Amino acid sequence: MNCSAARKAIYPSPDRCVLSVETGKALDHVRQCPDCRRYFESQAEWSRLLRAKAGAEPAPDQLRERIAGEIESHQRIEGPRRLGWIAAAALIVVCLPALWFARRIPSQLFFLALCEDHIKYLSADSQLRSSDRAEIESWFRDKTDFGVRVAALGTAEILGSRLCFLRGKKAALVFYRQQGRPVSLFQINRRDLSLAALDRWEVDGAAVWRASFKGYSVAAFEQRGVVYALISDLRESELLRLASAARAEAQGY
Ligand SMILES: [Zn+2]
Repeated sequence: MNCSAARKAIYPSPDRCVLSVETGKALDHVRQCPDCRRYFESQAEWSRLLRAKAGAEPAPDQLRERIAGEIESHQRIEGPRRLGWIAAAALIVVCLPALWFARRIPSQLFFLALCEDHIKYLSADSQLRSSDRAEIESWFRDKTDFGVRVAALGTAEILGSRLCFLRGKKAALVFYRQQGRPVSLFQINRRDLSLAALDRWEVDGAAVWRASFKGYSVAAFEQRGVVYALISDLRESELLRLASAARAEAQGY
């Protein structure tokens, strides 16, 4: 059994996989294969880091300052309304950070799920094998509630496409190969998804959101209600360049 088959058989981890006839052979492979052991260790570490990072993220400073200002001004209000205002403001101080986390964590976990999906389909396991952009776009037409655009990413080769369901959302996945490395381009309806879960970056004067872990990079942007996310283990600068090309093309549609 090779690495790709073993990883697939015991995805997402040796202790959380669905048992099948392949499981025993896959576990034997992983025990003897340092690459696969490192792969599952980094997966576990990634999940831990992300959850820790999401939990430690404070509410933005501006928001805190605004609330502190509101409390101060309402404290000056005389009469019986004053206590009510303070109680309401205090409630906001307690609840807003919780709302902030509630919005960020699902988005961070969603981008993590995209990365896991990229790793799961490193061999470009397509439902539609095609390098024809128009054919792929029309294949998605009755599958998603947004128009999928297959951008030409410079000299990257287009291999095919797949419809994924991740954390309750549909994601259109197009497989590319650049300099021999797999690149996934996901497109997702932006509803309930916050790019602020990633780090903001500027490429050619336009915002691109990025994250990376253990050699895999994410570069994402939004265009007309659709979030585009590129994932690869290419050099991050190279991936950001591809994201910038994809953005320029998406704007042209
Ligand atoms: Zn292996």
